[in-house]
Parts: sequence; C-alpha cells; structure tokens
Amino acid sequence: MTDGAEQGIVAEQVIAAIPPRLLAEISFSPSMDAAAIDRWRATPTWMAPHAKFFAVYDRPFWREAGLSGTAQSLAGPLAEIHDATTASGKAALFGFPAVGADARLAMGDAALKRACLDQLARLFGPEALEPQATLLKDWAADPLTATAQDQSGGGHPDASAGPWVTGAWRQRLSLGGSETSPVEPGYMAGAVVAAELAVTEVMQRLDQAHSA
Ligand SMILES: Cc1cc2nc3c(=O)[nH]c(=O)nc-3n(C[C@H](O)[C@H](O)[C@H](O)COP(=O)(O)OP(=O)(O)OC[C@H]3O[C@@H](n4cnc5c(N)ncnc54)[C@H](O)[C@@H]3O)c2cc1C
Repeated sequence: MTDGAEQGIVAEQVIAAIPPRLLAEISFSPSMDAAAIDRWRATPTWMAPHAKFFAVYDRPFWREAGLSGTAQSLAGPLAEIHDATTASGKAALFGFPAVGADARLAMGDAALKRACLDQLARLFGPEALEPQATLLKDWAADPLTATAQDQSGGGHPDASAGPWVTGAWRQRLSLGGSETSPVEPGYMAGAVVAAELAVTEVMQRLDQAHSA
C-alpha cells in the first residue's frame, strides 16, 4: 500500500488511517470492490480544499491598541482572522484565505502572502507588515491530504451506515480515518471514534481467525 509494502511487510489485517478519497487512489490486488471505491471517492475530506496563513511577530502589538486580533473581513484574501499567540507569549495572527484552491495556485504563494499582510495592516496597523516570519499551509496542494476532487467544495461528510470495505478485502481491511466515523465524521472527535471502531473490528477478526 505504501513504501512499507514495497519493502515486503506482510500482515493479516490492515487499518487504513487516511481519508477514504486518498485510499481510493491506491491500487489493490486483488482489485477493490467498485462500490467501495465509489463510496470512498464520494466522501469529501473535510477542510482539504482550505489553507491557513500565519504571520509571526515579536510581540502581539495589536493588543497594545486594544484590538483582539479577531476579525471577519471581505476586503482581502483572509475571511476569518484570529489571534494565534501561544500561551507562552509567541505572538502570531492567523487566518483562513477565502480564495479558492485554483485561485491560490494561480496567484502564487508570494502574492497571496503579500495580500494577507496588507489586509492585516489595514485591520491592525502598519506593524503587521513587519512579521518575523510568515507561514502558508495549503492543504489542497498537499497530496497526503487532498485529491483532485478536493480542490473545491469541502462539504462535511455524512455519517452514513454500512461497511466501508466490501468484496475480497472485506475481512482484511478496515478504515480508521475520521471521515468513516458514524459520529462527528471529519472532526478530531470522529477520528478517535473511527480508530476505536477499526481496532475493535480487527481484534474481532483476529480472535475469530485464531480461535477457529
Ligand atoms: C485546516 C484544517 C482545520 C481543521 N480544523 C478542525 C477543527 O477545528 N476541529 C476538528 O475537530 N477538526 C478539524 N480538522 C479536521 C481534523 O484535522 C481531522 O478530523 C483529523 O486530523 C483526522 O484525523 P485522521 O487520523 O482521520 O487523519 P489525518 O490526521 O488526516 O491523518 C492521516 C495521515 O495519513 C498520512 N497519509 C496520507 N496518505 C498517506 C499514504 N499514502 N501513506 C502514508 N501516509 C499517508 C497523512 O500525511 C496524515 O498524516 C481540521 C482539518 C484541517 C485540514
């Protein structure tokens, strides 16, 4: 399945702890059931089309002006901005660009960062233009998070019932990614529930196989 498989790892049971859409990109032998692949592809990976921008500062200068660092804005790429200063006092502002993945790609990181800083300066003052560092993480451009289908949309996955694996792999493979959880799919809480369910499923299969 991954580099590990190429090195010859043999296992009775496998838990795939990745979003179903990423799993659908992996080839199986014997082939994965087409109905399972269809369901995996139809399951959006929550937040995969999104990005986050951080500007790190030597101090939270906006607080000195009585500003919270929180903003919602339609004038610039960042729709939602928060004070991301850590409890230990490392100052930062962060925001979610409302610009779509295609537009981010066309714009390029340098221009997007510049536009974000200009927006922060309009909101919080000119010191925003002098960050110690900027960080832009674009999940839509991360092949370990997003597929081509995740470049737009980003709806929340539905908590749907029924097995995630059908056909020849039914007794060998379990899905443990958050999107497969029956509760809070796509969220951190869903990741915990999905992992617990996958482990329970695998333990039951191993018990059955070894008690037979
Ligand atoms: C921008 C953003 C904001 C979010 N905000 C929130 C929030 O506020 N609240 C909340 O509850 N949840 C939030 N989430 C969702 C939360 O992060 C996920 O629900 C959670 O991380 C899913 O956990 P997981 O274990 O299912 O998978 P992941 O954490 O996605 O882990 C999957 C791992 O598999 C790796 N991987 C992928 N493909 C392969 C491969 N072929 N081989 C080997 N490894 C691979 C990936 O690199 C990744 O490390 C957010 C997500 C994003 C992207």
